[in-house]
Amino acid sequence: MTAEKVKVLIIGSGPAGYTAAIYAARAGLSPVLFTGGQPGGQLTTTNDVENFPGYPEGINGPQMMIDLQKQAERFGTKVEFVLVTSVDFSGYPFKVTVDEKKVIEAESVIIATGATAKYLGIPSEEKFANKGVSACAVCDGYFYRGKEVAVVGAGDSAAEESTYLSKLCSKVHLIVRRDEMRASKIMQQRVLNTPNIEVHWNSSTEEILGDESGVTGARIVNSKTGEKKELSVQGFFLAIGHKPNTDIFKGVITMDEAGYIKVVPGSTATNVEGVFAVGDVADRVYRQAITAAGTGCMGALDAEKFLAAKEAELVH
Ligand SMILES: Cc1cc2nc3c(=O)[nH]c(=O)nc-3n(C[C@H](O)[C@H](O)[C@H](O)COP(=O)(O)OP(=O)(O)OC[C@H]3O[C@@H](n4cnc5c(N)ncnc54)[C@H](O)[C@@H]3O)c2cc1C
Repeated sequence: MTAEKVKVLIIGSGPAGYTAAIYAARAGLSPVLFTGGQPGGQLTTTNDVENFPGYPEGINGPQMMIDLQKQAERFGTKVEFVLVTSVDFSGYPFKVTVDEKKVIEAESVIIATGATAKYLGIPSEEKFANKGVSACAVCDGYFYRGKEVAVVGAGDSAAEESTYLSKLCSKVHLIVRRDEMRASKIMQQRVLNTPNIEVHWNSSTEEILGDESGVTGARIVNSKTGEKKELSVQGFFLAIGHKPNTDIFKGVITMDEAGYIKVVPGSTATNVEGVFAVGDVADRVYRQAITAAGTGCMGALDAEKFLAAKEAELVH
């Protein structure tokens, strides 16, 4: 059986993947995009996206992703609802296996597999997802203007998200598991010097409380004293890290210690020539739909340039 051959293969269907697809398709490269297990990516888990330029009234996350898919398909992108289970970038063209059986040969690959926010794993967290529980302060903080919120975490993200929220919200309760934070000294100082941030040391969340309207509080427990407290909050923000979706690229693509793909600064090039990484999978800093889309565009342009150079090589 001959393997299916593709010029540009895009792995992932978030804003990065679809933007790469729009650009590659309009460049006549007939891209194929594999959606993975979460068609539309992270934004399909949120109702209101208010910070993506071009939508003055905001847009529902799943709707935005349907629109992006339609736009990519309009120019000839082939969207396939499959999961990439392994890759072989040791030869050329590259080999990519989907659903553990079908092998596709690709002349260039754009990795857009995103990252997944870590959650505490308590049932009430799921119950109030989109109703007060959020893993992105920059995305959702605005909805809690003037209200009390809680942030869970102890690293730089938690410190950053707490200070960000302290400017919008009346009070921020920072829930820290141990008696110290992992954040850099300067970030910690910023937290401790902000009057409307209260740090709850040695504390973990037992339950997020709420009703049909959403989150109304959080019950925390002090691991040293056993004391339980109910915080009256309307927003509950997780800042305990993200896991980039890069397991299938381990040992093949160069990553940092957290598993984010390393790209050549100012481009989307990875350590494998012809393989590019775009969106949250290569971005531990910004992690926004617009930055993902921006690098998706870069990835398609980088792939196009790579393919043109390959073609020129063959001619000469
Ligand atoms: C609840 C929530 C609310 C948010 N709100 C906002 C907001 O209001 N504004 C904003 O700018 N940002 C927001 N974000 C952040 C935003 O969603 C991300 O920055 C953005 O989606 C990243 O896009 P991406 O294309 O890099 O990856 P993702 O959206 O993470 O998509 C990754 C894609 O890769 C696919 N994939 C993974 N592994 C494989 C595989 N093995 N094979 C094939 N496909 C695979 C997945 O199925 C998925 O389609 C929010 C995030 C969350 C979780």
